Amino acid sequence: MESRKRNGEASGGSVPTQLFVDGEWREAATGQRFSVDDPASGEIVAAVADAGAVDARAAVDAAHRAWSAWRAMPATERADLLWRWHRLIESHAEDLARLLTREQGKPFAEARAEIAYANGFVRWFAEEARRAYGEVIPAPRPDRRVLVLREPVGVVAAITPWNFPAAMVTRKIAPALAAGCAVVLKPSELTPLSALALVDLAREAGFPPGVVNLVTTSDAPAVGAVLTADPRVRKLSFTGSTAVGKRLMADCAGTVKKLSLELGGNAPFIVFDDADLDRALDGLVANKFRNAGQACIAANRVLVQHGVHDRFVERLAARVAALRVGRGDEDGVAIGPLITERARAKVEALVDGAVAAGARVVVGGRALHELGPRWYAPTVLTGVGPEMRLACDEAFGPVVPVIRFATEAEAVALANDTPYGLAAYFYTQDATRIFRLASALEAGIVGANEAVVSNQMAPFGGYKESGIGREGSRHGLAEYTELKYLCLGGLG
Ligand code: ADP
Repeated sequence: MESRKRNGEASGGSVPTQLFVDGEWREAATGQRFSVDDPASGEIVAAVADAGAVDARAAVDAAHRAWSAWRAMPATERADLLWRWHRLIESHAEDLARLLTREQGKPFAEARAEIAYANGFVRWFAEEARRAYGEVIPAPRPDRRVLVLREPVGVVAAITPWNFPAAMVTRKIAPALAAGCAVVLKPSELTPLSALALVDLAREAGFPPGVVNLVTTSDAPAVGAVLTADPRVRKLSFTGSTAVGKRLMADCAGTVKKLSLELGGNAPFIVFDDADLDRALDGLVANKFRNAGQACIAANRVLVQHGVHDRFVERLAARVAALRVGRGDEDGVAIGPLITERARAKVEALVDGAVAAGARVVVGGRALHELGPRWYAPTVLTGVGPEMRLACDEAFGPVVPVIRFATEAEAVALANDTPYGLAAYFYTQDATRIFRLASALEAGIVGANEAVVSNQMAPFGGYKESGIGREGSRHGLAEYTELKYLCLGGLG
């Protein structure tokens, strides 16, 4: 596209850096831009268009105009476009992964895995698009038919976070498009480049103008205010912090928008005396240290039964001490930087607070200032009390707080003693306990002897203050549809 701005530095390839509205790349109305940096070094990677309320409104206008033709397109044709997008993402996977590491900091192998995961949603919803079945229900009278139709909800606003800058975009946009909705996407100001690259591939795939719109901004509240207040936006899908999610939920009340919210978590990871410890250690390291702990389903509290506590901690400490910290683009790196200096300071304050309250550092326990302001060492702490902030707040860092417990009842009570309910994990070889725990844990996602659980086919979402709705799976498509009951009479 002629108007497209390129930024060769960003990926080693070319990534547009403007707003995408009505099928065109364009500058923000003010002409302003904001910069995106590499969390590993602080180096500026790109400057992208800085949308304000005017641009957000233009994006909603475009989506609203595009929606009536888009919803009328047969689902099979929408599915074909999604397939085309899928194939384009696949053929650009390496560049997308490099870009992701550059703007987000995660190790390259993880970035590659995220692109595959992200693209899995596009494929999954290309398949699901064809199966948005309705129902025919036995009618109460012979001269009637009772039909239930699934219709697209309308214009959707999608607000995505920085921890999975590609996957959170496709997990929302692919089902919205599959259902026949038009989208306005606002990615995180910290990681807009992956979203820009993905939307550029959607453009290349041939989605009609206005069906996918993208507004990058450094002023999320200004753009958010437009998206939440405009009555033409019929649904908001948000992934991010609980505090912002609650605010957006309140802002959507005025127009009673449909909501999908994926908010914070405080996942317990419970290791019973009868656990397979190798399996539990593998699961914990894979779950907790992915993305340097910056995931809402990362274990936030590790509860270990007293019989295996010391052995488990010793083996965990050896594994954690061996994790290599470094830039995501270096070979063999397991832990990259945290996203911002503020994120590092939060992790540091939580750990220091726990130590001041009596916890003991077994490994790590300090900021790695020698690497820069955003680095924190992989850490294991013991003697953590459930009342400590470290065990209550989402740390979003490479820190394992170990809490000792005695009985199953105590573990369940501790696990559920939180306003959150996203994920919970436990390791035990006792089959009866597996079933007891599976039903006792108040969480939308439960891993029994497994801690790497996200995939396209399963519903992802939380109980309690962790959110509303589910993403992925057939339920993830349903979130973007309304049910219409059609009563046909006079058929006798
Ligand atoms: P985190 O704590 O993980 O950074 P946030 O909830 O702050 O999560 O951010 C998640 C997403 O929400 C980002 O895209 C961010 O720009 C956006 N956001 C933050 N505040 C607002 C707001 N007031 N209105 C709309 N979007 C917002």
